[in-house]
Amino acid sequence: MKQAKLKSEYIHVLDPLPYTDSALSPVISSDTVGVHYGKHHKGYVDKLNKQLEGTEYSDMSLESLVIETAGKPDLSGIFNNAAQAWNHTFYWHSMREKGGGAPPAKLKEKIEASFDSLDACREELIKAATTQFGSGWAWLVQDRDKIKVMATGNADNPMTSGMKPLLTIDVWEHAYYLDYQNRRADYVKAVLDKLINWEFAAKNLD
Ligand code: MN
Repeated sequence: MKQAKLKSEYIHVLDPLPYTDSALSPVISSDTVGVHYGKHHKGYVDKLNKQLEGTEYSDMSLESLVIETAGKPDLSGIFNNAAQAWNHTFYWHSMREKGGGAPPAKLKEKIEASFDSLDACREELIKAATTQFGSGWAWLVQDRDKIKVMATGNADNPMTSGMKPLLTIDVWEHAYYLDYQNRRADYVKAVLDKLINWEFAAKNLD
């Protein structure tokens, strides 16, 4: 019986990085990527698979798990690991080698309609990322016709409040401490100016 049940369970896999460990260097070193992806991100996926064993949630996709378990204290273990697994894959894709610059026209127009300018949007992202107390994430999201900036704490994800994530920056200390020590603002600015993948964000628009 157990065997049959286990066979139908959804095994979540660690998504491959969209580039090599050193592609983001020197903004984010290969040492940081190695620990962040190979230990932290992998750890969330491994813990999630353990927690799902034999539960009614074992057949759900990662995205469904995030939405279905959000805000339920008795399921916080599953939520935290599922959301962290989802957020990290989204974060890796939010950056690219030689990123930064200007967004594709359709995203740039939407940003300029929602903020005074692209630079104002950049400033809001920096503010959200640097004022998030403790661990969390800064996000560019789509809320119907509007583009917005928001921050979430710990593992939280904008999908659980009905927003469509476009890109994210991880502001947990493990994302920047090896390269920037406590200088979170320097990490965030460098990511936005040199690594951010606007093409990925544009692809995520509805
Ligand atoms: Mn992280």
